[in-house]
Amino acid sequence: ITFEESGLKPEILRAVADMGFENPTPVQAETLPLLHEPPTNLIALAQTGTGKTAAFGLPLIHRIDASNKKTQALVLCPTRELCLQITKDFENYMKYLPKIAVTAIYGGAPIHTQERQLNKGSQIVVGTPGRVIDMIKRGALDLANIEWFILDEADEMLNMGFKDDLEIIFNKTPSEKATWLFSATMPPRVESISKRYMKDAQRIAV
Ligand code: AMP
Repeated sequence: ITFEESGLKPEILRAVADMGFENPTPVQAETLPLLHEPPTNLIALAQTGTGKTAAFGLPLIHRIDASNKKTQALVLCPTRELCLQITKDFENYMKYLPKIAVTAIYGGAPIHTQERQLNKGSQIVVGTPGRVIDMIKRGALDLANIEWFILDEADEMLNMGFKDDLEIIFNKTPSEKATWLFSATMPPRVESISKRYMKDAQRIAV
């Protein structure tokens, strides 16, 4: 499959071309065809450096309803650095779709600035688990309209002790949604959370 054949919106194809991506990486070749299917759960065994950010980011951005300001997608990741990296990558993929907004929320930075940004309306939120829960508690983040839930580096999040936080967050999302879990390894604690919250998940490994 090529990017052109994938059916991605022309604005996204232009951005991908600007970034110098010529062909999809193997994990992207697995996720791009899912654009045309009803939302499904996905478990992807993929390391950093495989192009996993675009593998979830491009289909997710393609599906966002730009005319609706509600938060439609949540990406969870273990660290502030990864959160900022994913957000920056998304901003690049979305640069020709000015009505779509992404907000990064992570600990160790003033909460008010991030809160103000959320209050402006952000279809996509990228966050670390603790700060996501803080924002829910403050009423600044509502997960009731989430259609896409991405867990990036799920093994790392569980290693860092975020299991309870992940469960709280899963329980705040609607039952009808697509959950995509990316992880470099599949230890029992990752299998256990996917078994509990991700029914009939398709599996890919690259
Ligand atoms: P990631 O695995 O998401 O951390 O991506 C690793 C690196 O690969 C990043 O620098 C991306 O910009 C780059 N990349 C992602 N997809 C492609 C692609 N299809 N062609 C060339 N480079 C890519």
